[in-house]
Parts: sequence; structure tokens; C-alpha cells
Amino acid sequence: MWYFIIIFIFFICLLIRPRAIKKCKLKKIAPLGYSLFYTDQNTNNRKNGVIYKKILYSEKYNIQGKPDFIYKKLNTCYVIELKSGTIKDEPMPHTGDLMQLIAYFLIIEDLYGYRVKKGKIIYSDYCFVVKNTRYLRKYLLNTLKDMRYMLKTGKGTANCSFVHCKHCMCKQTVCTFYDNL
Ligand code: SF4
Repeated sequence: MWYFIIIFIFFICLLIRPRAIKKCKLKKIAPLGYSLFYTDQNTNNRKNGVIYKKILYSEKYNIQGKPDFIYKKLNTCYVIELKSGTIKDEPMPHTGDLMQLIAYFLIIEDLYGYRVKKGKIIYSDYCFVVKNTRYLRKYLLNTLKDMRYMLKTGKGTANCSFVHCKHCMCKQTVCTFYDNL
């Protein structure tokens, strides 16, 4: 009986998970009904009530960052991250870009107490709308845990493959795992 319940839950997760990340054609940056709350962009025309270029630091998670734009509506936020490159026919954003966006979700929630519903990663040809799901947050926290463990002990295993590493800036520079594939 338990065996069938586990399989059922697994398939439900498979059905739900892809909807957390949706690829779409480029549309305008600002989400409808939201107003600008924070930006890392340079401007001579600064508006009252908008935070500019501040490093956002979460003490709870010990992570920091500067998202390109945060928009706010009541107590909810929408994060925008711009990327200069293209994504072409890739079905998902680059893993590092996705983790960066999820990290911003956590930082904003911890720092300002606002709920982040969604974010968008905008490449120069397509964009991805990403929901702030428990699965993605857990994935990021586990990745951070692994990274910190590796930094502390020098021990760990790399999930190294052509697909996983192809956009990584560490490939054939500081990371030697890829050379041993
Ligand atoms: S190149 Fe190295 S650091 Fe980059 S994803 Fe692959 S294993 Fe990880």
C-alpha cells in the first residue's frame, strides 16, 4: 500500500514541479500592478521610496546579493534578474541563475518580511517566470549546505557532467572536476 502511495506522490511532484518554472517570450520588465521597490541600476532620476544599489544581506541564511529589480505590491514582491546572454532553446534557466534568484527570494523575505511570490530571469532572447516554491528553496538550502561543507572540509563530490557544467564559469578555470570527465 505504502509503495503505491509513494509512487503516486512522486508522479504528482513530477506534474507540479515543471510548472514552477515557465519559459516565455520577452515581455516588459515591470509586473502589472507592482511598483518599484529596489533597483541595482544606475539612474540620475532617483525616486523617493525606492532603494538603490544596496547590498541586501540575510543574517538568517548568511547570503547577500543585489538583484536588478524588486517590485512590490502590498506585502508581496516580484524579483527581476537580467542576464546579458541568450538561452536559445534550453528548456530551463542556467542552474546558477536559478539559484541566484531563489537566494534573492530568501534574502527579501528575511530582510523585509515580504512574501516573494515569483521572480523572472530575463535573458536577451527569452525569459523564465519562477515561482517561489518550497522545492526550489529546499534545493538552494541544500546546495548552500554542501558548498559550505566543501569549503570547510575540502571534501565533497561534484555533480559533474557535460549538461550540468556547460554554462559554469568555473569550468576549465578553477574547477578541475570537468577535466576528469
Ligand atoms: S565545472 Fe565544476 S564547479 Fe562548475 S558545475 Fe561543473 S563540477 Fe560544478
